Parts: sequence; structure tokens; C-alpha cells
Amino acid sequence: MSARLQIGGLRVAYGQAEAVAVDSLVVEPGTLAGVIGANGAGKSTLINAVANWSRAEPRISGSVRLDGEELTGLSADQHVHRGVQLVPEGRGVFMGLSVEENLKAVARPGGSHGGRSYAVDDVYALFPRLRERRTNLAGSLSGGERQMLAVGRALRMAPKLLLLDEPSIGLAPRLVSTLLATIRELVEGGLTVLLVEQNVHAATEVTDVLHLLERGRVVATGTVAEMRNDPRIVEAYLGAR
Ligand code: ATP
Repeated sequence: MSARLQIGGLRVAYGQAEAVAVDSLVVEPGTLAGVIGANGAGKSTLINAVANWSRAEPRISGSVRLDGEELTGLSADQHVHRGVQLVPEGRGVFMGLSVEENLKAVARPGGSHGGRSYAVDDVYALFPRLRERRTNLAGSLSGGERQMLAVGRALRMAPKLLLLDEPSIGLAPRLVSTLLATIRELVEGGLTVLLVEQNVHAATEVTDVLHLLERGRVVATGTVAEMRNDPRIVEAYLGAR
């Protein structure tokens, strides 16, 4: 079952400074939405707010619903139970554990309302490179391998909604394509994904809908084809390869 994400009237502030003000952003079930925008536009703040409402800072108000159920005010654990998984920019893997230990250290929480649960072998089938590196320490992996491991760990927790913060950072272009193609496969299988990307060219290859964030606000939304025809996008992001 695919999940629908609905963000409404979301405000996130650090002290007096408002970092995100998103009136409406919807990710339809089993689709991949991309949020693009310059450095400091508020992309990480937005995706972190969707994943975890429990932190005292930043200050958050508004509504985030998954299949109509309000996530606001729930703890990080409760998010996991409802099938929300964030792969943060720092990636959150245990550097001192091997690939396989990292994958075994997490599993679908009992009684969760999550999506498909991935066994360790399912993750290896998706990312054969991880199987080859299964006895290596996560700390010795390349950036791309570590990103695969982070996604693999998230899948073990049976997400319905996967939130990815800049998965392409530090990866060689070929690896970015491979990784995003795999993410696309997961979406075809029913997963709902919200992807934050500074690498607009990479994002346009796999997303169904793109949202352009500027100073915390969504200033343009459209399909990749529509965005390619938007002069603001072309000028700022798609002009030169
Ligand atoms: P990047 O691509 O550099 O990660 P971003 O689009 O993800 O940028 P955010 O990191 O969400 O942007 O930052 C949005 C705004 O909020 C920026 O003005 C930033 O300086 C501010 N900000 C982010 N984190 C904090 C924090 N912990 N305390 C205070 N201000 C913050």
C-alpha cells in the first residue's frame, strides 16, 4: 500500500528566523517528489521537520499527514512505526560496524504500520555492491557505498515514506545515476519518496514532480517537463550542465 504525504501550513523557525514556510506540498502515493533549491533555501529543515516533530528546536507549526493521519507531535520512534524513514545528509550509519552488522542492527519494528519489510538479502539484491562489501567496516566504504547502506538500513525498517536528504552529495556522477535508478525502482514498487537535491540535473532524471524552494517557500511546482519550460528554473538551475 502506498502512502500519501500532505504538508499544510508548515512553519519552521530557528529562534526568530523563519527557515521554512510551506503552505501546501503533497506527494501522491507511489510517486517521487523532488525539492530543489539553492544552499540555505530550507531543504534540510523541511525534510527534517517532516521526519521528526519531537525536537524542541527548531520551532515547528502546521500539519504533516501520512494517509490522513497527523504526524505532528509524534516522537521519532512513532514516525518509524508509521513507516516514515529519513536518510539524513550525514547518512546515519555506524562507522565501526561492518556493512552486514549495520543492516542486521535494524529491522521492522513490531506492530508497525510500515510498508514492505526488507530482509538483509533483499537489500543485497537491490545493491549487489553491499553484498561484496558485507564484511567491510562502514567507515571504510566510499561515499556511494555508504549512501547505499544508509538507504538499505532505512528499507529494513519497512518505510511507506522515504525521505532522502541530498543522496547525491559526494558521489561520482555514475554512482548518482545508479543510486537514483534504484530509488526509482522502489517507487515503481509502491514506495512514496520525497527527495531533497541540490543536484537538479540528477533530480530531473527520476522525479515525477519537482518543487522549487526559495527562502523556505515553494515558489514553483510542476512535472519535470513543466519545470524545464519554466524560465526561472532554466535560468537558475538548468542553464549549464
Ligand atoms: P543546504 O543545501 O546547505 O543543506 P538547505 O536548503 O538544506 O541548505 P537549511 O540547512 O534547511 O537549508 O537551512 C535553511 C536556513 O535555516 C538557513 O538560513 C540556515 O542558516 C538556517 N538554519 C539551518 N539550521 C539551523 C540551526 N540549527 N540553527 C539556526 N539556523 C539554522
